[in-house]
Amino acid sequence: MSGAMLGSRSERSFLPIGASRRLGRIRAVVLYLCGFALFGGLVAGLAAAIPFPAGAMEQGPAVAVRTVVVAAKLEQTASGARLVFVASQPLTATPFALEKPDRLVLDLPEVNFQLPAHTGEAGTGLVKSFRYGLFGFGRSRVVIDLSAPARIVSAVNAPLLKDLGTTFTIELARADREAFHELAGGAHATSATASSAPVAPARSATPQKDTRPLIVIDPGHGGFDPGAMGGSGEVEKNITLEFATTLAAELERRGHVQVALTRSNDSFVSLTDRARFAHDQNAALFVSIHADTLMGSPHVHGATIYTLADHASDADAARVAEKENRVDQLAGLDSSNTDEEVVSILDDLMKRETKVLSLAFAKKLIQTLEPHVRLNKNPLRAASFVVLRAPDVPSALVELGYLSSEADRASLTSPQWREETARAIATAIEARLPAQPGAAALAN
Ligand SMILES: [Zn+2]
Repeated sequence: MSGAMLGSRSERSFLPIGASRRLGRIRAVVLYLCGFALFGGLVAGLAAAIPFPAGAMEQGPAVAVRTVVVAAKLEQTASGARLVFVASQPLTATPFALEKPDRLVLDLPEVNFQLPAHTGEAGTGLVKSFRYGLFGFGRSRVVIDLSAPARIVSAVNAPLLKDLGTTFTIELARADREAFHELAGGAHATSATASSAPVAPARSATPQKDTRPLIVIDPGHGGFDPGAMGGSGEVEKNITLEFATTLAAELERRGHVQVALTRSNDSFVSLTDRARFAHDQNAALFVSIHADTLMGSPHVHGATIYTLADHASDADAARVAEKENRVDQLAGLDSSNTDEEVVSILDDLMKRETKVLSLAFAKKLIQTLEPHVRLNKNPLRAASFVVLRAPDVPSALVELGYLSSEADRASLTSPQWREETARAIATAIEARLPAQPGAAALAN
């Protein structure tokens, strides 16, 4: 496809760029594959990943089978860069551009990326890096971080030998700032609605209304946003999901509250969607779960509880909020261009009652955690976290520990530590439940 088509405002949001050009491409594919150092292994891996006989692809599978991507390769070219994915079946992508920083984003149907760790982290020339992963239910996304404005010249599927799948080749070329700005111009509406919304908890099917308060547990990060990384391969998004699941199970076992998770699998949910979910569901409490990392400070350790504030309580709290808030921007969401609902959320940000309840909950958390969990030497802090901005839902963000600390890493990956810590947090949650409407007034 041409760059001009990509720039067409009216067509951009639904224009598929994965036009299949199977015929006459075999020779080109063979040349391509010579460039893949691990060709034999890749094709073997792909064959293993395809869950139906290769011949079935000719007619198309009877049921929708999720596409598997088993290899990715980035090359520098004379005019820009080339990104090649090896996939089990042809890919169809909807592209758009974002500025500040410059990115090209490809929205795809759900794709299972089975790529080696660190794929896409080291770029070449025009492409600084690229990221990929699930982006909500049934959708995936590739985000290409650019060192300079660029456009997609073509995106072409070509079959592998013996119908073992396909290569999906994206050719990028440098573009001038003006053209890139024009490309990015109409993207907000597309990107702002592209994130997945969390799913409400399954309410009781009986006519009896469940009047127990709802606790929303928010496992940080997910999908192509891994969060912090530990020195031994630990990934924050997995640690937060495991912990949140354990905490939800503990609360459900006790039976005094309803529990909902903002995500229950490895999918991406935007920060504003997480906050909006808690607001829409009229949650009694919102608890966001994270793990921190501090490069060059292996001895900094322990859990820290954060509440929402306009101004950070200290420089480190400001650093953590900046890091956690960056997620939506990296995902191709423009948090500066939010809709009316979010604007009203921001306006009501400092509702006094919510603030008082949040601080009381945070203090209770520290009290119940202290006998069981190593706390940071300054365990109660505040900063401007996007995910805590629901105006009427008391909330706290728990950084369970530092992936940069060896001792914390051992704790964070220990099932026993997880269960003990979840019990302590569950106790704090139950202690802070409003006994009756208006109880907030008593929270002082
Ligand atoms: Zn985090």
